[in-house]
Amino acid sequence: MTRPVPAIVILGNGSLATARSIQQLYPGALIHGLAERVDGADRVYREFGATLRELYQQDTPIIALCAAGIVIRTLAPLLLEKGVEPPVLAVAEDGSAVVPLLGGLGGVNVLAREIAAHLDVAAAITTSGELRFGTCLLNPPSGYTLGDLALGKRFVSDLLAGETVRIEGSAPWLAQAQLPEDQQARLTVHVGHAERAPAANELLIYPRNVLVAVTGDVADRPGAIREALHQAKIAVQSVACLLAADTEMASATLREAALELGVPLRFVSAVGVASALARQAIGQSVSIVGDDAIAIALAEQPLDPLQIGRPRGRLAVIGLGPGAAELMVPAVKAELARANDVLGYETYVRMAGPFRADQVLHCTDNREEMQRARHAFELAAQGRSVVVVSSGDPGVFAMAAAVLEALHESTDAAWHNVDLEILPGVSASLATAAQAGAPLGHDFCVLSLSDNLKPWSIIEKRLDLAAQADLALAFYNPISRSRPWQLGQALDIVSRHRTPDTAVVLGRDIGRPGQTLRVTTLGQLTPDQVDMRTMVLIGSSTTCVFPRSGGGDWVYTPRWYGDKPNA
Ligand code: SAH
Repeated sequence: MTRPVPAIVILGNGSLATARSIQQLYPGALIHGLAERVDGADRVYREFGATLRELYQQDTPIIALCAAGIVIRTLAPLLLEKGVEPPVLAVAEDGSAVVPLLGGLGGVNVLAREIAAHLDVAAAITTSGELRFGTCLLNPPSGYTLGDLALGKRFVSDLLAGETVRIEGSAPWLAQAQLPEDQQARLTVHVGHAERAPAANELLIYPRNVLVAVTGDVADRPGAIREALHQAKIAVQSVACLLAADTEMASATLREAALELGVPLRFVSAVGVASALARQAIGQSVSIVGDDAIAIALAEQPLDPLQIGRPRGRLAVIGLGPGAAELMVPAVKAELARANDVLGYETYVRMAGPFRADQVLHCTDNREEMQRARHAFELAAQGRSVVVVSSGDPGVFAMAAAVLEALHESTDAAWHNVDLEILPGVSASLATAAQAGAPLGHDFCVLSLSDNLKPWSIIEKRLDLAAQADLALAFYNPISRSRPWQLGQALDIVSRHRTPDTAVVLGRDIGRPGQTLRVTTLGQLTPDQVDMRTMVLIGSSTTCVFPRSGGGDWVYTPRWYGDKPNA
């Protein structure tokens, strides 16, 4: 059963050696280094606080190579709200101290011990129960789950006060613990999948060894499952996963049921009744109770959901924004982190990285969009988590429409069952406009000047009408080696309706290294000032320009039209 991959966060080059050493323990862990202070980090950040809080909120285990106080102060605003939290550790930059700070129930002490052993120092474990008994009773290993945390805390403090304990059921991980065991003890650790009201002197730990298979559509699915478990006297907490036929992959009620029960959802080929599904997934010999619609299978050992059937595949079409990491939306970052496969034009795939060794990159030529879209569905239909990258926004002259077109054309049910989501990004016109001020502050029109996929006559007509309508204009794909003359013609058309002093903004490589921003006028604009990495914004008749202190200009299009209304 897999643990989430930690992030290693460092502030300076002095910590790099220790960070690399810790990285060997956790394949896939990335080193996040402060911009301009760290050379050769896997990922560069600008703001320590924002970065750390984002990782924490995404439940990423954090190994910060800096003073414990800095970490505490940074995360303090988030601590009160959070129930479950990821492990957070501070490690001295020279590797001489390992201090678990937060996430006791998330296994922070386990991480601390691993790192300390690797660095050949002692972990600064401060958890009394763990020091005394050599294990955190409240944090059973994966495959097991604690019944009730509040009761558990009292249980452990009773033990610390000198009580003895009895272990009922099979708890292999407690064999090495130094618990004060006594068969006559009042306190009991009870490990088992039976439904049971917790007694005051009992710590209930549930093995996740139960699989629930379902078929058919039921109105209140979670309710029916709970009832079936209750009838069978099996605890809901012991359910490792919910299993269904792959024909039901897109079912919303199934997804809700899994969410409500807090268990993963897995699928196998449709083979009739629920018990047959369960047998297909975990073997013939397993004991099964229940009927055709809901079957409950009991395994001898905890079940690893990742080994059962397959998940519903996911395909996310994401926008990276113009380039700078700060302009990438958090949902996109999270999606990249969960991806098994990443597809896209090589430049953008590289921009989306770095990636872990287990992530598969499929880089293709910029023009192979439909092929890429179909390849993405083939991968996702196998149950993989697939990301297709676009720069800017995926819905603006980019991959989202190609992906939907591929799906629309397909009759393959497996493709239609994929969990498809489009995640937006900051488009080049908006990123450029923001740097210039607000040139698109009133109505505007977005056009691609590429006549690869549409006839030039349509572009001419739209340009003419949009210019006539006095809309501010944003030109994507303004020019390229194979389309050298189109921009000149476009400017001629616009000039029929706009004066030569109309404001123009040229943004090149915005949000990327070496970006340039230029404010000029329609009269002075010539195609040789523009290339395929440039965004061209042309103002309306009301667009204003005025000098900004420190050099350059502000450009904006007022929100009002005609006479200025009373402010
Ligand atoms: N989906 C992208 C647009 C793809 S079309 C988006 O939403 O931004 C490609 C065109 O976008 C380029 O020819 C250029 O005109 C513009 N463009 C993309 N990234 C840019 C950037 N960082 N700076 C300026 N223009 C950019």
